[in-house]
Amino acid sequence: MTSGKGAAPAKEVLAFLARAYPGARVLLDHRNPFELLVATVLAAQCTDERVNAVTPPLFRAWPGPSPLSNASQEEIEAAVRSTGFYRNKARAIRELSAVLLERHDGRVPRTMEELTALPGVGRKTASILLGACFGLPALPVDTHVGRVSFRIGWTASKDPVRIEEDLARAIPPGKWWEFATRLGWHGRQVCVARKPRCPECGLAAVCPKRGV
Ligand code: SF4
Repeated sequence: MTSGKGAAPAKEVLAFLARAYPGARVLLDHRNPFELLVATVLAAQCTDERVNAVTPPLFRAWPGPSPLSNASQEEIEAAVRSTGFYRNKARAIRELSAVLLERHDGRVPRTMEELTALPGVGRKTASILLGACFGLPALPVDTHVGRVSFRIGWTASKDPVRIEEDLARAIPPGKWWEFATRLGWHGRQVCVARKPRCPECGLAAVCPKRGV
């Protein structure tokens, strides 16, 4: 956490988030790490709802990296077309599938280093996989987490890597994952980008509302 004047106290923030969003979770439907990995590829510039409509038939037709890597580019493009940028996404899914088979026997690896070595997988996606599928300490910083962290005074940065470092210093690793998912929900529902709903926010009394 930065030493910025008036940063919302960690104890209050964590208690509020636990009360307000006890069931916070990843909104992309998945049955295993591979499905979540593919869903995160499809979620770029697309809503979670749209992705959740596309993935069940996709995985019925090609259940796993082996069938997906053998599917044609055209077949996958047709299946993911409604998520936008479908050519790039189809290519990325086929490539990821092939690399997983080649390097990891078709399984999704469990370390940040191995995950971020996969084509197109950045820190945020890797953190989502680590936290949601493997129960490991992980702090995915998406646009919502970054925005709220800044406003409550926990970071002075807009850079996701720096924000992650600031948050990691402020919270014990065992709470990273639930904190990030809950803060992301708060950012979607109350501390929204354009007009944050401060009057109805449970953090209003302690939040410095930086930049608001
Ligand atoms: S909605 Fe307002 S009070 Fe609540 S966290 Fe965001 S900036 Fe702070």
